[in-house]
Amino acid sequence: MKCPYCGSENLKVIDSRAAEDGSIRRRRECAVCRKRFTTYEKIESMPVFVVKKDNTREPFDRDKLIDRISRSTYKRPVSAEALSAIADEIEQYGQGSPRHEISSSEIGEMVMSRLKDIDEVSYVRFASVYREFKDVNSFMQELTDLMNKNRLES
Ligand SMILES: [Zn+2]
Repeated sequence: MKCPYCGSENLKVIDSRAAEDGSIRRRRECAVCRKRFTTYEKIESMPVFVVKKDNTREPFDRDKLIDRISRSTYKRPVSAEALSAIADEIEQYGQGSPRHEISSSEIGEMVMSRLKDIDEVSYVRFASVYREFKDVNSFMQELTDLMNKNRLES
């Protein structure tokens, strides 16, 4: 960045605050000509990468994730807002991690734990695809656990 008056790059930030649109408003002073000016900087959210089971990485795709979850919530009382909130939470989790990465298994676990609270049918549908139940027995076990849990809670 250069001073708009003299072209010097020797600038000093004298004040910075969040603007209403979420950008950062910075008041700068040129160390050479002493003139002051204001800049607005858009905060770029860091892209999040998904680490897949085979250790390849791909950019986190929010729409793709929502699309995947919505196959499990089809015709179930799960709002678009709820799906979007799950995706936001996962993306934020990834952004908060040191390398801006989240593994596909972490995503799966997070989706399952949220769906479990929202709608159990959607949860079972998602879990059955995600966990790739190897046989009917393990799938039945999951259902039985769920039903036992409900019985204990009600
Ligand atoms: Zn200047």
